[in-house]
Amino acid sequence: MSRFTLSPPSLGRRQLLKLGLGASAASLLPLSSVFANTLSTKARIVILGGGAAGMSMANRLARRLSGATITVVEPRELHHYQPGWTLVASGVWEAERTLQPNAKFRPAGIEWVQGQAAGIDAGQRRITLADSSTLDYDVLVVATGLQLNYQLIDGMSPDLIGSNGIGSVYASLDAARRTRDAIDAWLAEGGGKGIFTSPQTAIKCAGAPIKMTFTTLSRIKAEGVRDHFNLDYFTGGGGMFSQPWINDFLKQRFDRENITRHHSQYLSAIDAGAKQAQFTSKDGSTEVRDYDFIHVVPPMSAPDFVKDSDLIAQSGAFQGEWLDTDIHTLQHNRYPEVFGIGDVIGAPINKTAASVKAQAPVVEANILAYLQEKPLPARHNGYTSCPLITDIGKAMLVEFGYDNNMEFLPSFSFIDPKEESWSAWVLKDYLLQPAYYAMLEGRV
Ligand SMILES: Cc1cc2nc3c(=O)[nH]c(=O)nc-3n(C[C@H](O)[C@H](O)[C@H](O)COP(=O)(O)OP(=O)(O)OC[C@H]3O[C@@H](n4cnc5c(N)ncnc54)[C@H](O)[C@@H]3O)c2cc1C
Repeated sequence: MSRFTLSPPSLGRRQLLKLGLGASAASLLPLSSVFANTLSTKARIVILGGGAAGMSMANRLARRLSGATITVVEPRELHHYQPGWTLVASGVWEAERTLQPNAKFRPAGIEWVQGQAAGIDAGQRRITLADSSTLDYDVLVVATGLQLNYQLIDGMSPDLIGSNGIGSVYASLDAARRTRDAIDAWLAEGGGKGIFTSPQTAIKCAGAPIKMTFTTLSRIKAEGVRDHFNLDYFTGGGGMFSQPWINDFLKQRFDRENITRHHSQYLSAIDAGAKQAQFTSKDGSTEVRDYDFIHVVPPMSAPDFVKDSDLIAQSGAFQGEWLDTDIHTLQHNRYPEVFGIGDVIGAPINKTAASVKAQAPVVEANILAYLQEKPLPARHNGYTSCPLITDIGKAMLVEFGYDNNMEFLPSFSFIDPKEESWSAWVLKDYLLQPAYYAMLEGRV
């Protein structure tokens, strides 16, 4: 049983449907009218990764293509609903609520290879798997998600999560559970120094480090012991959040809550035994801090085997770190038969499941056009969304895209993106998960 039980309001089926449709409204063309029928093709399509993006693409392509060979490479048997992990680590959800068998979402008629891709030869259009077998493709969809680089923090390992006052919601479901236990243990001590971090790289769900800060603060305040806890937030970036209005809001909120902000300082080393963390500034200078609890968010990048391939960006902001795709068409910039979707792509924003929901119809339409040698019809507008938890029981639904200085793209008339609300919390706590599963099935 969850330790924070809050009842949902009764939202009807229409509102739930709208939830599913909010993000897909972000694709700029009425895609169903572009390709009304299934396409007959003998193309070999390989999808690397069967997570949020890969599973959505498998369902969409299985429905739209007849005669194609669609192969998904995915090592896991269980699907993890990662957006639920912050709620697990905050003690709101039980861990089991985030798990489903992959078999539940897999479309009929595709090949499912339960294995790990280990290499991509883009010139030969060939994937090598960890067991040395190979898969040739005519179209490749790279949907591997990203890699957590804990090893770049000296002394840090995911094994440490849950002990010595170390939490990190990102590593796995079990890590989210152990993070919850570490926070519980720290709160039971009745006071001390807490440090929350965000790295110098792009990360998935950029709001998660902030959510963890706010839910922990919420629990401290609920105990009536705020004065006994010091809270610091270190971020490797210059700001708090990419959306400008939210960035200003967060700065003010952190200051009001007496959480000391440290910008352009990233966690570079940790001494778990001594409970000390080292932070490095842009000029290379370092500072060591004592902590009783630290929430670690590691640097992130595309997986190593993607980085080692010719598909990785060769120049610009994403060089050597992220997949080289056009941020609108999601087609590879140098290999037109390759498309990218989800966390792995190089894009200024977008590492969320909400972005996947907006990207999937775009990739579907563009792959169908590519197979017919037609111009690519669909463009992703950068839609992303963060249900930013500001308190246990309150959130802000922040939706925005690439354009106009990342201005808000609200989906719901009843939720103001600039207001904290119970409704936005209810979306996060109860309603986004069914919409997410509908996305996996390619239904929204
Ligand atoms: C703590 C946390 C909180 C989050 N909160 C939110 C939120 O509130 N809202 C939101 O929209 N998003 C949120 N997200 C982000 C969201 O979960 C991701 O953006 C989304 O899952 C991206 O989908 P993806 O398919 O690119 O990656 P994933 O869903 O991670 O899937 C990648 C898949 O690729 C597989 N894979 C990896 N390597 C290989 C390989 N070598 N070969 C074959 N397969 C491989 C993996 O096993 C995995 O199944 C959160 C994420 C975390 C961790």
